[in-house]
Amino acid sequence: MSAPTLQSFQDQVSELLLRHRSLLDVLSKYGQTNASVNRSVVKAVTECGCIELNAKKQFYAEDVDMEQAKQDLKSHLSGELCEHCKEIVTAELGKNLFYMSALCNLLEISMDDVVANESSKCSTLGYFNLS
Ligand SMILES: [Zn+2]
Repeated sequence: MSAPTLQSFQDQVSELLLRHRSLLDVLSKYGQTNASVNRSVVKAVTECGCIELNAKKQFYAEDVDMEQAKQDLKSHLSGELCEHCKEIVTAELGKNLFYMSALCNLLEISMDDVVANESSKCSTLGYFNLS
């Protein structure tokens, strides 16, 4: 079986989603599953301990070149997800994607278009600040 495309995934979600067809249900489930993604990452830090978070304010000069900035800026993350946590985070991301797909279906937005638009924006803008 070949890997599903975003469009085939959207079609699949559309067929499965009988209960949460209301826009309100989909919006609230989308928010809830997003919170669960964050929760699963937090639990990897606080309960499992496979990853650690050590955050502080970062400073970077405006005139520094991008390669240098990439090296200087920190993810505040050390370690890597263990198999168990990776499985959980992946599953939570999947549920979130399910409801993102359901939202796209209701609003007649193609996820392939979403990815294509964002990808072309990334290649046009290059590096940008996440702010
Ligand atoms: Zn872990």
